[in-house]
Amino acid sequence: MGFSRRSFLHRLGAVGGAAATYSAMVSLGLMAVPARAGPMSLPAGLGRGRSVVILGGGIAGLVAAYEMERAGFTVTLLEARDRLGGRNWTLRNGSRIEMVGETTQTVAFSDGLYMNAGPARIPSHHEGLLGYCSRLGVPLEVEINSSRSAYIWSAGSNGGKPIQMRQGVNDTRGYISELLSKALSRGALDQDLSAEDREKLLPFLRAYGDLDETGAFRGTERSGFAQVPGAAGQFGRSREPLPFRELLANEQLRATLFEDQLYMQATMFQPVGGMDRIVAGFQRAITSPVRMNAEVLEIRQSPGAVAVTWRDRVRGTTETAQADFAVVTLPLNILAGVESNFDKPVKAAIAGVPHDYSNKIGFDAPRFWEKDQIYGGISFVGGETNLVWYPSNGLHTARGMLLACYGSGRAAKGFAARPIDEQIAIARGVVARLHPGHEADLSAPAVVNWSKIPFNMGPWPAWGGRGGQEGHLDDPAYRLLNLPHGRVYFSGAHLSQMPGWQEGAVLSAQRTLNLIAERVSNSVAEGRARASAA
Ligand SMILES: Cc1cc2nc3c(=O)[nH]c(=O)nc-3n(C[C@H](O)[C@H](O)[C@H](O)COP(=O)(O)OP(=O)(O)OC[C@H]3O[C@@H](n4cnc5c(N)ncnc54)[C@H](O)[C@@H]3O)c2cc1C
Repeated sequence: MGFSRRSFLHRLGAVGGAAATYSAMVSLGLMAVPARAGPMSLPAGLGRGRSVVILGGGIAGLVAAYEMERAGFTVTLLEARDRLGGRNWTLRNGSRIEMVGETTQTVAFSDGLYMNAGPARIPSHHEGLLGYCSRLGVPLEVEINSSRSAYIWSAGSNGGKPIQMRQGVNDTRGYISELLSKALSRGALDQDLSAEDREKLLPFLRAYGDLDETGAFRGTERSGFAQVPGAAGQFGRSREPLPFRELLANEQLRATLFEDQLYMQATMFQPVGGMDRIVAGFQRAITSPVRMNAEVLEIRQSPGAVAVTWRDRVRGTTETAQADFAVVTLPLNILAGVESNFDKPVKAAIAGVPHDYSNKIGFDAPRFWEKDQIYGGISFVGGETNLVWYPSNGLHTARGMLLACYGSGRAAKGFAARPIDEQIAIARGVVARLHPGHEADLSAPAVVNWSKIPFNMGPWPAWGGRGGQEGHLDDPAYRLLNLPHGRVYFSGAHLSQMPGWQEGAVLSAQRTLNLIAERVSNSVAEGRARASAA
């Protein structure tokens, strides 16, 4: 009686081994599902004598394989494609893009250029994924996610001419500060603010909006120069401010807030050489058998085991893998087509989640945007193609991969229905609006419509389409699939609050492993208790 938690755990460890300690820690809430991903530390011998089959070799499957083999499980990983990584997919010269219903494209980029067809940026708060990059020795570099030299463009604003992001940000801020400052001076906010706060707010607004001493906005050097400061008498002269109505008419004005989202920080990260360097890192570390071209056809579980039948897509043979547990990371829309003896409600939950749409189009191009002082970042154009994304790597080299379309959601669905040549022509046309004359510089287009990519057939589930938002996803199917189903554990980014981020795959996989570890520890502890009682 009266012993501390630490000494209790110490004694338990001495009696029941690492597994019992781990289970008790989970029960005490010390190792509950992590609120944020850190390095996992499953006890080394936890999985000894136990086996797991992992379905799908995306980030979730790779995290599961890496951690479970470290914990002593016998691991088999089954992946339908001839490569690992799943949505983490980098295209280079010679890569093939197979899409259902389309002619296969072969990428013809210059040497050294690449296009991250799926994930392309990692925010600083995705500590789980960044942790694996660090542990697996995957070098990172800065991904410049926002450039104030890039543009916002809208047909009905500024005569159809693009507006530089810095002007969009700072002219808007100037006008809003002026309006608020006027309202304050006229006493319109006397009910809402104390005299003392009003007194403090006025000078702040002057600084915030770069207003003159009368509280008027007359333009600011923050929006850029009409004449840059130079030598001797070349004085700096700021640009004329754009009329407020032109800013308000710009449908992309909200994109001036893009980098204020935590997910879209101005400075993000990318693996040097392409996002699939993370996959290569896992591949170097994992020693368990990894079966590629292994398309899972059927999952059947009995009280004692789970059997997974798969087809070797090269040899045409069919094999069955047996294990104590299955970790199933297949996208739900794909899993819906796999035979199983899952309970009816589970099957219904899997089949009921619609998938979203997303498209990317990349070109090989000379770096004309750098002549416009754009080094990385994004121009926002809206519509079907949504944005133009400039490369952060290879600055000042001859050529770069310009992403001339990255759109998701309803507009992306319609865009993907267009013939590929039409998609390319539209993306080219967008570049012409932002960088007139340079559309002809674009070569070697690579089009990825995720709704047509085999073994994904969509970029992520449309949980949000049912009224939920990333970070706030919750519905009965989501909850059900997040529970173990007998010996089967569903896992993957789609079962996290970030279905569109690799961090979601990491967090979901780690949670799944914690659940399996707890179950194993409990059964070990029960076995020992029975043995000592006998
Ligand atoms: C366009 C786009 C942009 C994105 N941008 C970002 C970003 O910038 N940053 C970021 O962090 N994340 C981003 N993401 C999200 C990120 O890619 C995913 O959240 C993450 O990679 C999902 O990992 P997963 O393991 O859960 O699923 P997946 O990667 O889909 O893995 C599932 C695996 O199952 C395999 N499989 C399917 N069917 C079978 C079968 N029958 N038998 C065997 N195997 C099968 C698939 O081939 C695949 O390898 C983006 C995704 C897309 C599509």
